[in-house]
Amino acid sequence: MPQDGCIFCKIAAHSVPSEIVFEDDLVVAFKDLRPLAPVHLLIVPKRHIADLNDVPGSDEPLYGRIVWVASALAKKQGIAETGWQLFCRVGKGGGQEVGHVHFHLISGNRC
Ligand code: AMP
Ligand code: ZN
Repeated sequence: MPQDGCIFCKIAAHSVPSEIVFEDDLVVAFKDLRPLAPVHLLIVPKRHIADLNDVPGSDEPLYGRIVWVASALAKKQGIAETGWQLFCRVGKGGGQEVGHVHFHLISGNRC
């Protein structure tokens, strides 16, 4: 169920523009609006979930899928060999600004 006012739900629903680089039934990946490195993508579950504290056990396959999508995108973006980071901030204290789970895929060692 999309959450009213959630920007990543809107991107997942294609109701606001974004540079989508991958999409399937469960996951969407798009370019970060304010990239911190030459490759900076966000990998997002389509179903709204505020943060990783709320992940139900039934979502275990979804998070495996996200890791697989990250690995595939790193190869496609040409950074598999040079190195990359995959991380997720949790809660305000963890630096999370957008309240819909998202994983940053960033080239190199900047974050
Ligand atoms: P975090 O601090 O982990 O919540 O990261 C939120 C990220 O979302 C930041 O890197 C923002 O640049 C990015 N962001 C916010 N709005 C958009 C948007 N409409 N399209 C793409 N990236 C966005
Ligand atoms: Zn959302």
